[in-house]
Amino acid sequence: MKIRIRWTISLIVLLCSCKSLKDSWDNLNLFPVSQDVELGKQVNLEISNNQKDFPKVSEQGNEELYQYVRGVVHKILYNGSIDYAKDFAWQLTLINDIKTQNAFATPGGYIYVYTGLLKFLDSEDQLAGVLGHEIAHASLRHSTKQLSKMVGLQVLSDAALGNQETVKQVATAIIGLSFSRAHETQADSMSVIYLCPTEYNAAGASGFFKKIQGQPTQPEWLSTHPNPNNRIQNIDGKFKSLGCKGRETYVERYQKMKLLLDKIAPANGTNDTKTLPNSNPNQNKPGNTNKDKMGKTAPTNQGNGQDPHKKIEKPK
Ligand SMILES: [Zn+2]
Repeated sequence: MKIRIRWTISLIVLLCSCKSLKDSWDNLNLFPVSQDVELGKQVNLEISNNQKDFPKVSEQGNEELYQYVRGVVHKILYNGSIDYAKDFAWQLTLINDIKTQNAFATPGGYIYVYTGLLKFLDSEDQLAGVLGHEIAHASLRHSTKQLSKMVGLQVLSDAALGNQETVKQVATAIIGLSFSRAHETQADSMSVIYLCPTEYNAAGASGFFKKIQGQPTQPEWLSTHPNPNNRIQNIDGKFKSLGCKGRETYVERYQKMKLLLDKIAPANGTNDTKTLPNSNPNQNKPGNTNKDKMGKTAPTNQGNGQDPHKKIEKPK
C-alpha cells in the first residue's frame, strides 16, 4: 500500500511538473515588452505599405464605420483587465476585402479587421468576442512568445539592440506566424474574461464559431483545425463558470452598421480567401502551406502536440 501511495504521489508530482513545464514553455518570452511595441510598429508599416494584399478601408468617408468598430474595441480595452492597455497602440485598421472572414492583431496592439468578417457576423457581441480574442493575442504577447521558440538568441539580441534590419526580418516573420493550440484556447478564454464585466454577452466568440459551423460550405481550415465544438464548449463553459451577467447582443445596431459596408467600393485584387479570426490572412492563398486559422502551430511546434494555427499572415 505504501508503495502504491508513493507511486501515486510520484505520478501526481510528475504530472504537475509536466504541466507546469508546459505552461512555462507556453509562456516563455525572451523579448522585452518594448520589443512588442517596436515590432508592432514595423509590422504595421509593412502592412500599410502593402495595399495589394492589405487594401485599407479609407477612414475618410467611412468615419461612421470606423467609429462603430473602434467603439467596440474601446469597450473591451477599458474594462480594466487588459495587460498593456495603456502601453500598446491598440490601433484599428479595416481591410477592404468583403470575401475574407478574418481579423488579426500584431504585437503591440495593431488590430486589423476584414470587411468580410464584419459582413459575416450577425451581432455586436460576436464582433466583441472576436475582437476580445485578437486583443488577447496582443495583450498576452503570443507573437513574441511564439518567436522566442523559433529564432536564435543572436536574432533576439540584435532585435533588442535595435538592429533595424533584424527588426524588419522579425516583423516579416511575424506576418507569417501561427499561434499554438494553447495560445488559441487561452485567447478564447480571455475573450470571455474581457467581455464579462461589460454589458455584452461575454460568450460572443462562440456565436462566431456556431455560425461558421452552420455554413452550407465549410471553410477548408475546418478540416485541419481543432474541432470548433471544443472551442464553443470552452467559451460557453468559461462564460458559465464566471457567471457573466451581460446579455446584450445589439443585433439591430449591428445590422445597421453592416449597411455602411455596401458603400465601400471593392478594392482591386481582393481574392476569395476565407479565414477566421486570429488566423493567417495568407492561408489558402497560393503558395501558402499554412492551413489553420484562429491561432495555431508554428512549424517548429508541429509534432509537438500543437496544431497548426495562424496569426497574422500576409500573402507572399
Ligand atoms: Zn487566435
